Amino acid sequence: MPRPRRLLVVALGSVGLKLRAGVREALQQVLHLDVDAGPVLERPRYAFNEARRQYHTAAILRRLSALRPAAEPLPVLGLADVDLFLPDASFVLGDADRDAGAALISTARLATRDLPLLLARARVEAIHEAGHLLGLGHCEDHRCAMFLSRELAEVDRKGPGLCQGCRHALGLEH
Ligand SMILES: [Zn+2]
Ligand SMILES: [Zn+2]
Repeated sequence: MPRPRRLLVVALGSVGLKLRAGVREALQQVLHLDVDAGPVLERPRYAFNEARRQYHTAAILRRLSALRPAAEPLPVLGLADVDLFLPDASFVLGDADRDAGAALISTARLATRDLPLLLARARVEAIHEAGHLLGLGHCEDHRCAMFLSRELAEVDRKGPGLCQGCRHALGLEH
């Protein structure tokens, strides 16, 4: 599968302008992607699970996948502000389905009112999920954006950048 060079970024619900712009910039700088700003969609009520009071990640990924332009099936990254879950996890910070060409992150669990910190966390998680769309798996290097973080301390330990191994895998070495 050739590596995509462009990505569509779609906001769901009330995701701030600064956050959207910061994520787009990180995707350009770190992954060298051209980023198209997609539509701002409503809060994904269709994915809401009454019993859990959370939003089902897979349902949102399916909708995002359907937004891919037929003429040029760009991968799509959604930015949400709702609490996400998967059936086998109490919550997730984000998820990606490479076959569907769709990924998603949410700020709901990034838990801070400090905008620069929120932005830093969102950038790292956006790079992580977009990295999956480009074919990267999880990385052992805890400073690399592709490290699998299960808690915020681990998110904060990561930089938005990729380790040399991951950059090499994407052909970003010069
Ligand atoms: Zn991951
Ligand atoms: Zn890495």
